[in-house]
Amino acid sequence: MNLRVLEPATEAVLAEIPRAGVEEADAAVARAKAAYPAWRAIAPPDRAKLLDGLALALAAKQQELAVLEARNAGKPIGDARGEMGMVVDTFRYYAGAVERALGDTIPVSGGVAMTFREPLGVVALITPWNFPLAIASWKLAPCLAAGNTVVLKPAELTPLTALEFERIALEAGIPEGVVNVVAGPGSTCGARLVEHPDVAKVAFTGSTEVGRRIATGAAQTIKRVTLELGGKSPNLVFADADLRAAAEAAPWAVFGNAGQDCCARSRILVQDTALDEFMAALTDVVEGIRVGDPLDEATQMGPLISAEQRATVGSYVPDGAPVAARGSAPAGPGFWFPPTVLAPVDASDRAVREEIFGPVACVIPFRDEAEAIALANDTIYGLSGSIWTRDGARALRVARAVEAGVLSINSNTSVRVSTPFGGFKQSGVGRELGPDALDYYTEVKNVYFSTEDG
Ligand code: NDP
Repeated sequence: MNLRVLEPATEAVLAEIPRAGVEEADAAVARAKAAYPAWRAIAPPDRAKLLDGLALALAAKQQELAVLEARNAGKPIGDARGEMGMVVDTFRYYAGAVERALGDTIPVSGGVAMTFREPLGVVALITPWNFPLAIASWKLAPCLAAGNTVVLKPAELTPLTALEFERIALEAGIPEGVVNVVAGPGSTCGARLVEHPDVAKVAFTGSTEVGRRIATGAAQTIKRVTLELGGKSPNLVFADADLRAAAEAAPWAVFGNAGQDCCARSRILVQDTALDEFMAALTDVVEGIRVGDPLDEATQMGPLISAEQRATVGSYVPDGAPVAARGSAPAGPGFWFPPTVLAPVDASDRAVREEIFGPVACVIPFRDEAEAIALANDTIYGLSGSIWTRDGARALRVARAVEAGVLSINSNTSVRVSTPFGGFKQSGVGRELGPDALDYYTEVKNVYFSTEDG
């Protein structure tokens, strides 16, 4: 049976493609396994050139890929363009890493011990629908740079740029079988990759619930796992901050990608003495957000990914919910949901505790630094967060105390190609991007070489 891929802004069918199942997953693993010995044997400078060539080929297709991603994921075209730029940069960055997979020499008696970073073999990458090709590239680039071959399973809702990537990689000279894309359901195709005995590692981004299932499945064959899971990140605003800057930036840290962002700073914690001033500035921004056609250059927020996601998000804003600010959303077809701010809202409310993955933010007041930190850490998650204050010592004190992997001070941006990304607590295991990612696609081998005479 074919897979019908929808355009969330119109609900129209964008493409129909063959739906991969267990058989296709097995065939892809077999191709990746067959391609592995030759790919890992390519001399490092040559593998670096191939990845550089792939970055160039992706750059040449950047605009087409951006339009495809904007249509399939329902994201504003400007955002999609930015994401495709990051895809290109990620391949450039890891092309440079191929020749820097350094080992150590360790002084020991009777000879020398040296370490090598060896590739793992066939790696399965399972990715979500919110940043389809960008998140895939965070995994693909270091994985290939390290000498592994891959099977990528994109989300069924957004498989189109991944399939395009497979074609571009082949055209750019990446040998056949090194990159394999299977577009099928997680429950069959994805689950098969997790249990497959020839898969050495699974790198996954998605919900904490599925991440837990993947960790359990991977344990049967002691596969390595990297898990990038959910978040419920705090945006801490102290009264001594540049309040206008903090309030004007806060909506974009939740409503970007229509809130479908694991880093969304969806718990806005504001010092009580600054609450009124903060809310006034925030409301102006929220009411002015331009929600509409992803392909319109003026659009700032698109629809949600699916009718199901819209129903889930809507359940956090029932009738009578304390809506403090609300933007607009188009009528008619499309999975639209207006940007919504809830306040006052109790810290025990579902909307405060669960990852909503939609354009809904909660504002919660705090009295002092100790309470701010306690509220920030009162969650099973620990992915991301922001701290706004003009007091430098406080900024660092709080940054060290917040249990999260990726923080920003007086800014809401903390994801960059060259810096590590990943979560504390139930937000995941392992790190992507930056210099750390290569470690997660290699094993350390220690070789002792005796230099004794005779
Ligand atoms: P999922 O975690 O279900 O999906 C992520 C990926 O995992 C998809 O490719 C999916 O395949 C696949 N998958 C699903 N089940 C399995 C399985 N048993 N074995 C192997 N792979 C599997 O996310 P959803 O799309 O269902 O979104 C649900 C919620 O998850 C969101 O509302 C949000 O809260 C959270 N989420 C978080 C993300 C993040 O970046 N942290 C990203 C996406 C979602 P397929 O969808 O094709 O069936």
